Amino acid sequence: MMQDVQQVKALLARFGLSPNRGLGQNFLVDGDKAEAIAAAACPEGGPVLEIGPGLGALTEPLLARARRVCAVEIDPALCQALQALFGQEPRFTLLQGDFLKADWEEIQAILGEPFSVAANLPYYVTTPICLRLLSCGLPIPRMALMAQTECADRFFAQPGSRQYGPLAVLAQYYYQPRALCSLSPADYYPQPGVDSQVVALESRNRPFLPQFAGFLQQAFAMRRKTLRNNLKAYPGLEDALESLDLDPGCRAEALSPQQLASLCTALLP
Ligand code: SAM
Repeated sequence: MMQDVQQVKALLARFGLSPNRGLGQNFLVDGDKAEAIAAAACPEGGPVLEIGPGLGALTEPLLARARRVCAVEIDPALCQALQALFGQEPRFTLLQGDFLKADWEEIQAILGEPFSVAANLPYYVTTPICLRLLSCGLPIPRMALMAQTECADRFFAQPGSRQYGPLAVLAQYYYQPRALCSLSPADYYPQPGVDSQVVALESRNRPFLPQFAGFLQQAFAMRRKTLRNNLKAYPGLEDALESLDLDPGCRAEALSPQQLASLCTALLP
């Protein structure tokens, strides 16, 4: 059953729910887009982590493909609805709670092997969720993430641009981001005020740098300051910059993801 507006309204009525805008509840009502996201997240049938399953618009096409789906939903009322809709399916596990606090060991134990990620992300917490995914160090081979266009653009931001920062660097260093499809407000119920985009991320299989995310927060802490200023707490900074042929007077926003990774490795071996 692909969800359209009438079906989403019927599900809300059946479970006595109304969309909670504070939790970013804009439900997808375009079944073709849901299929495309599921196909991008799960081309080979492996296990999938879904963040914010809502009323199951993505869960259903994911379950049609994936060996196993583990979904993390913060809203207890939606969790009751999801249990009623998918609770009979042994390949489905629902964890109720905030994804930002979810236990990776528990998720790994449920999904078992390298898993993909699929999400229609709640707009109010998109960046922290993406940063958590990009800095967890688990071998996540691919992700398909739907976000408001302004945020989705950050996956592709280039050095020197206003949107270039830790999210762009981590996404481009560890993954190959690709714009999968665009969505208009009419693709959701209730309709948001802006367009959205689906970004597909394919892993580059690079070794994980445990300190990289924290290092980037420091390097970009004050965007207008130089690396020498933002990173002065790091001993050996001048030597590391010189060995990499980097100007101490430049800003983090001028460096490529690879240059920032090399600097991080030189400072925090
Ligand atoms: N996946 C559904 C769809 O595509 O129709 C719902 C997407 S809706 C944009 C975002 C979902 O994330 C909602 O179900 C919301 O309750 C849930 N959510 C919001 N904040 C969350 C958090 N911190 N952790 C887990 N789920 C969250």
